[in-house]
Amino acid sequence: MNSVWDDVLAALGQRLASQEIDKCIRPLVPVGITSSVIRLQAPNKFFIDCLSEQHLTALRECVASVVGPRQLRFEVNSNNQGELFPLKSFARSGGKPSAAALGTLVPKHTFANFVVGANNQFAHAAAQAVAKQPGEQYNPLFIYGGVGLGKTHLVNAIGHAVLDRNPAAQLAYLPAETFVNELISALRRDRMEQFKNRFRRVDVLVLEDVQFLAGRERTQEEFFHTFNSLYETRRQIILTSDTFPKDIAGLAERLRNRFEWGLVADIQPPDIETRIAILGKKAELEGIPLSHDVAAFVATHIDSNVRELEGSLLRLGAHASLQKVPITVDLAREVLDAALKSKRQLVTVDAIRSAVCTQFSVRPTDLISKRRTRDVTVPRQIAMYLCRKLLQASFPSIGTLFGGRDHSTVIHAVSVTERRMKEDPGFQATVERVERALAS
Ligand code: ADP
Ligand code: MG
Repeated sequence: MNSVWDDVLAALGQRLASQEIDKCIRPLVPVGITSSVIRLQAPNKFFIDCLSEQHLTALRECVASVVGPRQLRFEVNSNNQGELFPLKSFARSGGKPSAAALGTLVPKHTFANFVVGANNQFAHAAAQAVAKQPGEQYNPLFIYGGVGLGKTHLVNAIGHAVLDRNPAAQLAYLPAETFVNELISALRRDRMEQFKNRFRRVDVLVLEDVQFLAGRERTQEEFFHTFNSLYETRRQIILTSDTFPKDIAGLAERLRNRFEWGLVADIQPPDIETRIAILGKKAELEGIPLSHDVAAFVATHIDSNVRELEGSLLRLGAHASLQKVPITVDLAREVLDAALKSKRQLVTVDAIRSAVCTQFSVRPTDLISKRRTRDVTVPRQIAMYLCRKLLQASFPSIGTLFGGRDHSTVIHAVSVTERRMKEDPGFQATVERVERALAS
């Protein structure tokens, strides 16, 4: 077992910098191996999250090169009741280690690598201001926007910039989910004092995806106190979410209120010029030769989110280099076609209905029922609108799918929804969120 692990470490040595290995891989302890699985013990769940985000592929491939393909199974070392985060092992990737950092920043997510467009200009400016004077101007900074639009990138950029200016700054960067899990574990082990102190000591706290706190009263209460304590001592708080604070259902009023104390900035989907610029930037970073024509082609066809845009570019680069052909518009069409088709096929009436039900907390039967209260008519109209838009279904057939309604009702639903989207940006964002949920 141990010699296998040594070989894996050696193989990883070919791919990762030695400080990365020391930080992210060495703390793992191999505890078992079978013909299909290798079990690794990690100091805590947070460690596993960080590792999974950055080096999972490398680790998996190196394991495969030593003993053949194995599933990796991580376990948390339950004896490690002391430190929630072994801090020393969690410095910033690549840069000078900052001993008190909690969590790991993504090295590539810097301001220099972030493309500014009309869709994110405001959030970007706010992020830069906060990075310059943490705790001084906009506290908290609350950034919201749909999936894959650059929230995580932007808050990482703040973290890098803060540490560049002041390497001694104590920065905590973590998803709300980790905060929840760590709190639960601290409660269970009767270690609330340590938990509190740890978070209240930092200069900058970045908590990602706070919509995850919804409905978790105990965590919200604890976070409320953490928030107050940081705020009062003028430490910077940075939050991200998929919605505006007011729209996070199940969030205590006093927290929601505090989330709006500072500056709330949104990130919208990028327009075509920004998408082209992002592709150009990523191509440059990845060393993929990309002409403007191809960038424009890809940007025209992938309009949902930046993560997908990036994925398409990487796929394109991989195809070109495997087939040893240049990246042309024809190649792009060929490579993206499969992806675009499978995406189209995935959307069904049922998927639309269930995405709408999830978004608005209504039941599928509400959508076909005769009920006409606003809480069900609006979701029903949106579902009809999406069936029209995404499936190009005929008005009468949509009527049939929604409880045998007349085609004129469907026409009305579609036009009302379109008009509301024009008039009300919040409503538009909601509909687009459902649409994105369908696309992902
Ligand atoms: P979110 O946290 O909003 O879901 P991410 O920050 O993870 O989104 O962004 C998804 C991917 O898109 C990341 O790889 C990120 O680098 C990239 N990205 C998003 N917006 C931009 C931008 N404006 N410039 C460069 N890259 C971007
Ligand atoms: Mg994110």
